[in-house]
This record gives sequence, structure tokens and C-alpha cells, in this order.
Amino acid sequence: MPEQSPARSVSRARPAAGAWAAQALRRWFDTGADTDSRADRDSTPVADRSDTRIDWLRAAPFIALHLACLAVLWVGASRVALAVAAILYAVRMFAITAFYHRYFAHRTFRTSRALQFVFACLGASCVQRGPLWWAAHHRRHHSYADTERDPHSPRLQGFLWSHMGWFLTPQGFRTDWKRISDFARYPELRWLDRYDVVVPVALGAILYLLGTLLAWRAPRLGTSGGQLLTWGLCVSTVVLFHATVTINSLCHRFGTRRFQTHDDSRNNPWLALLTFGEGWHNNHHYFPGSARQGFRWWEVDLTYYGLQLLETLGLVQGLKPVPARVLRTRA
Ligand SMILES: [Zn+2]
Ligand SMILES: [Zn+2]
Repeated sequence: MPEQSPARSVSRARPAAGAWAAQALRRWFDTGADTDSRADRDSTPVADRSDTRIDWLRAAPFIALHLACLAVLWVGASRVALAVAAILYAVRMFAITAFYHRYFAHRTFRTSRALQFVFACLGASCVQRGPLWWAAHHRRHHSYADTERDPHSPRLQGFLWSHMGWFLTPQGFRTDWKRISDFARYPELRWLDRYDVVVPVALGAILYLLGTLLAWRAPRLGTSGGQLLTWGLCVSTVVLFHATVTINSLCHRFGTRRFQTHDDSRNNPWLALLTFGEGWHNNHHYFPGSARQGFRWWEVDLTYYGLQLLETLGLVQGLKPVPARVLRTRA
């Protein structure tokens, strides 16, 4: 039987307008609702696919999260709110870089099933979808970096696409289960991936209740439920999101190249500081199998230092090192 064009199969499968809208709304809460799980999509170049258009209805919560930041004009600011936003940025950036990236995508260390789930939940609070979706797309990025099969190449599809266009499309929405079968065997991770809205909503509720409690019990702090919700969830998450995805967009355009990899990855110290070590992206593309991405002593890699601390505490094991032959390589 001849192989069916994925582009044509999508257009045939697309429901009528009303049903399509209902399906999109269901997916706000259940990403597994009627998901098209074709196995052959990975073989199709991004540029040839018709389902690379932005699904605006599906993307509405993402846009709303950005607009919600404007609420700071009404709720105001306080030291407590700014501190909560900063702490949530730091803790969640670590969860994304150490666990979503270096653990789930690259398996550069080991940990217990319990801690795996704890950090998966912390990562899910970043509103960057579930760990299986995130890691599967990232593995595909490494397999096809800056080719037409890369999900987010600034070389081929421009800055905006690589920064935040690609995952707002029907194609970017799906989880490629074949690429993440090693972690997909855990039902708790599959659940988290399917209902990826649960943790962010829970975080929002906790922040609102905490702010309301502080306004009642410690009014001198000058905070409120709306303030902690706006700064802690909306502002912190939006800043965290854009910092994270600079690695897909800016870090394939601006910086230096120590290693002549087949992609456009760069080492960028500013982005490394912003993302706790992810900015050493040319290092990482050359040798993705290491828990460490700053290969020189001066290449600050906060995530790696955090992982060393977790290893000292016995919470993670077997941090994979950078091989000596890689460290010896001169620019
Ligand atoms: Zn990359
Ligand atoms: Zn990677």
C-alpha cells in the first residue's frame, strides 16, 4: 500500500468547524483528546506539512497568560511578590534544565522514581507542557538539528518560529511516543503529560490562597492573592518561558562555536547565565551525553552545580562526565 501523505491525511481527518472548536477546547484540559498519533510524522520535513499553521484557539491560553501579566497595573507590586516570582523562576528553571532537559531528554544521571515525579511536576508547573512531550521534541531537535526535520530551526524557519511558533501548531502539539518510550512506561508521567494543565492551575490556586492569607494575617507586607497570582504565576512563568526558548532561537544564532558541529549551535555566556547553564549550547550539541554543559571552569553552569549538590545529598546518582578527549579539544 502506498504511503499516505501526512498532510492530506490531516486535512481529511479535520472535523467540521464546530467540532473542531470543541476538540480544541477539550485539549486545553486533556491533551490526549482525539490526538492524531500517526507514527510516520517524524519522517516528514517540517516545511512540507500543512499542519504547521498556528492553531489560534489551542494557543489562546498561551496568549492569555501573556496578557494576564498586564494585571500588575491593577494589583501592584511588593517585595514579597517579587521574591516569590524570583524564587519560582530559579526553582523552575532548575527543574526544566536539570530534569526536563538533562534527565528526561538526555538521561545524563539517575534518580529515584519518586524524585523523578517530583521534578516532573515542578517542570510541569512551568507551562511548557509535560516531560514526555518536552523531551521527545528535544530528542528530535538533536537528531535533526537545523535541518528541515528540526522542529524549531531558526536557520530554516526564522526567529519567531524557532522561539514560539512551532509548538502552537497541530504538528508541534503531539507527543512522539516512539522517541520517549523509555519514560513513557511510567503511568504517572503519562498522566502528567496528558493533563499538563493540572499542575499550573494548582500552583495558581496555592499562590492566590497564600497571598490572601498574607493579606489577612500580615497586611504590612502589602501583598494580596491577586498580586502573588500575577507575579508568581503569570510574570514569572512568561519570563521563564522566553528565557528557556532563547536556547532554541538565539543560541542557534548568536555566540561562539568551539566545536564544528553540523548545526548552528553557539556558546553564549549571557544566555548561559539566564538559563542556568543551557547557553553553552555548542558544547552541548557536540557532546549531549554529559550532565555538565559548561566544559571549562569559567563556563558557569548553575544547573550542574545544583546537580552536584543533589548528588552529594544522595538524591541523584551517576552524573555523566565530559570525556577527557572532549575537554582536550581546543577552539
Ligand atoms: Zn539546539
Ligand atoms: Zn539537549
